[in-house]
Amino acid sequence: MENCLFCKIIEGQIPAKIVYSDQDVVAFADINPQAPHHVLFIPRRHIASMTDITPEDGPVLANIFIAATKVAREMGIAESGFRFVTNVGPDSGQSVFHLHFHLLGGRKLAWPPG
Ligand code: AMP
Ligand code: ZN
Repeated sequence: MENCLFCKIIEGQIPAKIVYSDQDVVAFADINPQAPHHVLFIPRRHIASMTDITPEDGPVLANIFIAATKVAREMGIAESGFRFVTNVGPDSGQSVFHLHFHLLGGRKLAWPPG
């Protein structure tokens, strides 16, 4: 999708520290990390937000969760714990409208989030 920051990262037009990539999913370090480990997982297909997911996206979403677990294990935070979240719409503070999941870990995370 034109003018989508994360589509541009997928296409290599904007640099990012890629930590995982497969046929469905790309993961890269968040530019403004909120925890010692902060990685964003995105589908290659442009989906604006969680509310735009369709049943056909099911296998891609499964791969996103499996990829996040693999990366969490590699980072050594699978046992200590982590958070895997997506922001949806204005009240959540969603700022990029290409579906993304934040993997946050490496410190104690407060609950409920602010
Ligand atoms: P959200 O607020 O849930 O939409 O999350 C968007 C995330 O994208 C924020 O955590 C930003 O720090 C991150 N972000 C914005 N631009 C970039 C970029 N060029 N590379 C990596 N992460 C980015
Ligand atoms: Zn996009």
